[in-house]
Amino acid sequence: MTDLALCDALANARRRLDAALAEAGRAPGEATLLAVSKTKPAAMIREAYALGQRDFGENYLQEALEKQAELADLNAIVWHFIGPLQSNKTRDVAEHFAWVHSLDREKIARRLDAQRPESMAPLNVCLQVNISDEPSKSGVSPAELPALAEAVLAMPHLRLRGLMAIPAPADDPAAQRLPFARLREALEDLRKRFPEARLDTLSMGMSGDLEAAVTEGATQVRLGTAIFGARDTSA
Ligand SMILES: *Cc1c(COP(=O)(O)O)cnc(C)c1O
Repeated sequence: MTDLALCDALANARRRLDAALAEAGRAPGEATLLAVSKTKPAAMIREAYALGQRDFGENYLQEALEKQAELADLNAIVWHFIGPLQSNKTRDVAEHFAWVHSLDREKIARRLDAQRPESMAPLNVCLQVNISDEPSKSGVSPAELPALAEAVLAMPHLRLRGLMAIPAPADDPAAQRLPFARLREALEDLRKRFPEARLDTLSMGMSGDLEAAVTEGATQVRLGTAIFGARDTSA
């Protein structure tokens, strides 16, 4: 992808987000664009940063750490970890990211809390919910969500911000909205249970279902393909 193509794609993505917010009767800026840069080179992230993009999402830790080292001079960049999180990776995630969207187990939360350096602000976390109740998918079940939220809220080096989901793909907009509505309701329920917590984040919506997610209240949309182009499927 040339620089010009990236410039166009990023502008298009911003227009799409603005249009979706307007269509939903929401104020501009109520949802932020998270650029999902997995499998894409550091040079493309640098280019997007030069075009004003600040939030970037990565799925694979080793790849992310290499790119972060190359981009250490971009001092306003905000790194989000959005991939599956295993115990042996928590230290690097705790030390190198501002956000984690894919937290779904208390054991992992405890490790992140213990490993977050004192010199850094608390790690912002979203709990990933298995909203479509798919047995093979990651994410905490809706039934177990309140207990996990309560545990994370008690951890001083984590700041629980909200919920994230990756619903099963659907083509029809009405079908797309259903799981997003359930995630929004799950967040509303947590707000009632834990009124003192600042739960302000719904991380939902990707290149294929951004509009449905924004209609249901997304505050962060995670766009990969729509910004950086198709990914090499072997990656
Ligand atoms: C890859 C990925 C995205 C981006 O998906 P696109 O369809 O390319 O926009 C968003 N969220 C997560 C968790 C991902 O793994």
